[in-house]
Amino acid sequence: AHLDRIAEVDPQINAFLHVAADSALAQARAVDERRAAGEPLGPLAGVPIAHKDVFTTKDMPTTAGSKILEGYRPPYDATVTARLREAGLVILGKTNLDEFAMGSSTENSAYGPTRNPWDLSRIPGGSSGGSSAAVAAYQAPLSTGTDTGGSIRQPAAVTGIVGMKPTYGGSSRYGLIAFASSLDTPGPFARNVLDAALLHEAFSGHDSMDSTSIHEPVPPVVEAARRADVAGLRVGVVKEFGGEGYQPGVLARFREAVDLLESLGAKVVEVSCPSFGYALPAYYLIAPSECSSNLARFDGMRYGLRVGDDGTRSAEEVMALTRAAGFGPEVKRRIMLGTYALSSGYYDAYYGSAQKVRTLIARDFEAAFHQVDVLVSPTTPTTAFPIGERADDPMAMYLADLCTIPANLSGNAAISVPCGLADEDGLPVGLQIMAPVLGDDRCYRVGAAVEK
Ligand code: GLN
Repeated sequence: AHLDRIAEVDPQINAFLHVAADSALAQARAVDERRAAGEPLGPLAGVPIAHKDVFTTKDMPTTAGSKILEGYRPPYDATVTARLREAGLVILGKTNLDEFAMGSSTENSAYGPTRNPWDLSRIPGGSSGGSSAAVAAYQAPLSTGTDTGGSIRQPAAVTGIVGMKPTYGGSSRYGLIAFASSLDTPGPFARNVLDAALLHEAFSGHDSMDSTSIHEPVPPVVEAARRADVAGLRVGVVKEFGGEGYQPGVLARFREAVDLLESLGAKVVEVSCPSFGYALPAYYLIAPSECSSNLARFDGMRYGLRVGDDGTRSAEEVMALTRAAGFGPEVKRRIMLGTYALSSGYYDAYYGSAQKVRTLIARDFEAAFHQVDVLVSPTTPTTAFPIGERADDPMAMYLADLCTIPANLSGNAAISVPCGLADEDGLPVGLQIMAPVLGDDRCYRVGAAVEK
C-alpha cells in the first residue's frame, strides 16, 4: 500500500531520491518468515520506514542530496540503518534532503526541491524535508532524520507531524554522513508521539562505533509516551522566543498549547534564557567550521564524482574541478565561511568566541532546569514559506532555525509536536518541548499529553 501511495503522489512531492520496491517486498516476506519460525520480534517488525539519504545503506545508493555522491553505494550500513533492519523494519527507500543537510527548506538538494503535502507551492522544511513530507503524505508511517540545527523539529512542525531530536550522543552517528560532528543527531519522524517513541527506542543506545555515544541506558521514552500526563510538572515558557518576527497564528496556537498544559495540571512559569539570542550566530560559525573540515574528504579521489581526470591535470586540479562541479552554492558558502573562521589569526575571534557562547547557552539551560522540568516555545517563527521565497537570502533562511538551535548547541533533548493550524494560512504549527540532557522521556510525556 505504501509503495502504491509513493507511486501515486511522489511525482508531485519528490520526497524520495530512491524507492526500493523489490527489496522492500523481499524484506517484508523475510519478516513474515521470521515470525512464522517463532522468532520473537519487536513492536515495529514489518513496519515500513523511509531513511533520510544521509544514512548509509549497503544495498542502495546514498547521496546526501549532493551531486558529488551521485551513484555512490556504501559498502556498509549506518548503525541506525542496521539496528532498524534487525528490528524488522522494511526500508521503502531514501528521502530527499538539503545537500549534506545544510538548509531549512530542502531547496538545496541537487535533486530538486521536495514539496509540502499541505500546499505543493511551499517548502516541507529542511534539511530532512523528504522524510517529513513522506510521513505527512502517508507515503511512509515512519522515517528517520538528522537534527544538527533543527533539521528534524522544523520540518516536523511545518508538515504537521512529530519529530524528535534525542540527547546528543543518545543515537549513533556511525555511518551518518557527517555535517557538524559535535551537533549531528539522528532522530525519528512519525504521525504521533507514541510511534516516534517506539522508533526512537528501536535505534538508540550505546554504540562502540561512535566515540561520542553516551554510555547510559535509553531513557524510558515509550513508557513516557504512554503515560502522557503532566499533572504537577513545571513548564517554563522561554521569554526570548515570541513577539516580533513571529507569525500571529503561530503565537496563537502556541499560547493555546500552553493553556492546555495548564488546564491538564502543569504549573506554567515564564523563564528567561538570555543567551539564547546568540545561539543562531554561534551556530553559523560552529556548524560551517566543522563542515569545512568534514567535507574535505570529498576530493574526487575516494568517493563518487571525479572531474577532469584526463591524464593532463595534477591531482590538485582534479580536486578543484570536482569540488567546483560537485558541491552546490550553499555547501560552498559554508566551506568558505568555516575555513575563514578556523584560519590562524581568526580562530579565537570567531570559532573560540562561538564556543564560549555555546557554554553560556548550556548554562542557561542548566539554570532553567533548576526551576522547571521542561521548556516550551514555538518550534518555528512562521509556518511553511513558499518555495523560492528565501532561496536567495541565506539570512532569512537561517531565521527558520531561531528556536531550535539552542538545544543543539547544548546537546539537550527536544521534540516538536503538532499544535493546530495557523488562522492566516491554515498551515500546521509546531510546539517545541525541550528537556535536560538524557531527559528525552519528558519530551514524549508532555508531547503525548498535548498532541492534537
Ligand atoms: N537549517 C540548519 C542549517 O542549515 C540546520 C541543518 C540541520 O539541522 N541539519 O544548518
